[in-house]
Amino acid sequence: MTHEELWQAVLAQVQLQISSASFATWFRNTQIASQKEGVIFVSAPTSFAKEWLEQKYNKTIFKILHNLDRGIKGVRYETGKIGLKTIKKIIPPSETEQLEFQEFTIEKETSLNPRYTFDNFIVGPFNELAHAAAWATTQNPGQVYNPLFVYGGVGLGKTHLLQSIGNEVVKKFQGKKVKYIPTERFVSEVISAIRNRETEKLKLKYQKIDVLIIDDVQFLAGKEKTQEEFFYTFNSLYEKNKQIILSSDCSPKAIPSLAERLRSRFEGGMIADISFPGTETRIAILKSKCQERKVDFPEETLSYIASSIRRNIRELEGALNILIAYQRLNAALPDLKTVKSLLKNLTSSQNKTINAKRIIQSVAIFYDLKEKEILSKSRKKEIVNPRQIAMYLLRKELKASFPFIGRKLGGKDHTTAIHAFEKIKRKVETNEEGLEDEIELIRQRILYG
Ligand code: ADP
Ligand code: MG
Repeated sequence: MTHEELWQAVLAQVQLQISSASFATWFRNTQIASQKEGVIFVSAPTSFAKEWLEQKYNKTIFKILHNLDRGIKGVRYETGKIGLKTIKKIIPPSETEQLEFQEFTIEKETSLNPRYTFDNFIVGPFNELAHAAAWATTQNPGQVYNPLFVYGGVGLGKTHLLQSIGNEVVKKFQGKKVKYIPTERFVSEVISAIRNRETEKLKLKYQKIDVLIIDDVQFLAGKEKTQEEFFYTFNSLYEKNKQIILSSDCSPKAIPSLAERLRSRFEGGMIADISFPGTETRIAILKSKCQERKVDFPEETLSYIASSIRRNIRELEGALNILIAYQRLNAALPDLKTVKSLLKNLTSSQNKTINAKRIIQSVAIFYDLKEKEILSKSRKKEIVNPRQIAMYLLRKELKASFPFIGRKLGGKDHTTAIHAFEKIKRKVETNEEGLEDEIELIRQRILYG
């Protein structure tokens, strides 16, 4: 295994454990520079990134490396230039895309990734309806379900399905103009069009499209100006019978701060949800991925993975990637005991119960406070801030009600909880004072700590 392959295996695991924003920020353009006497030298593009890796991620990186190769005794970090090749490999093809082992070139015109097709999309009871609706739209774009709205949790195949529609339409109807765009990118296009007074140009650009695929529309929440532009684009395409396909992590009803007229547009066509795959489907998915990757793991390995990772297909793939990396390094299949230890990080987070106590504890540890202090009535800034972050996380992670949150934090009023949530949310959105990264570190602690 080359340094590059080894680092890819590490990145594949790291990215399962941290947010895509942190991953892109800290791991972009990193690589293994050299290896000497069991010490791996990792180079980072800037000294800031180097320090961050050293201080915040060293333990994670070392654990993964050591798991893959017991001969590795330590990791050092350095700043250094980086070969172009690695940059190309590591930068994800789109904001919502995840890092892949194989390289695929994204189609420039459509932004579609040819990796996602109906051929390699496994269908089970959990996604049957969404699959059928998606397939139907490829037969007659704009004519059957318009818009098609697919929703479901993280890593359950929304992007894969939406992109499959795009790829299939391109294949079937050469003349049709297909465009895939993650909502975050649409938002930034709108913002820069407004800044440069080019909103008319933007409108014209979208009017030429026959099949518009917009991924993760939950990110429109609270963005009024973008919603307005989006509403306009939506209508002008819709009136011309152009196909619109949308995905979201929740139903249109559940997207917060969405203009009523957009919500009713989203609900006007076909809504299909993707739920969680059952054990049998999870095994089928693993088998299909093994075939794609040309590896062969014993049945007991696959059923161990399928029984311990239940809620996310991306994590199923992640587990497989770890085992494949091990197999390449050691030129042998891992036995079940090794499999269990290799996948410990992944599986333990599945079973850990996240409750209010755990969240409050994690926040306290992170800020070096006592739990008592967080629950106290103190108005000191060093305490108020973490307390508000705990309230924010209770809402975010547990979807707890505001009265509950108030009670859990030492009997505060529910309006205090609402105020805290809104305040932290605003700061996270703008990453004020690096708060987004900070909260991500706390989340890691809650999930894996
Ligand atoms: P989402 O967009 O819902 O977060 P993705 O579409 O990115 O999820 O899927 C996560 C990973 O799981 C991708 O690598 C995708 O190829 C794979 N995947 C998801 N659903 C399926 C499926 N039904 N069959 C095969 N692979 C799948
Ligand atoms: Mg997605």
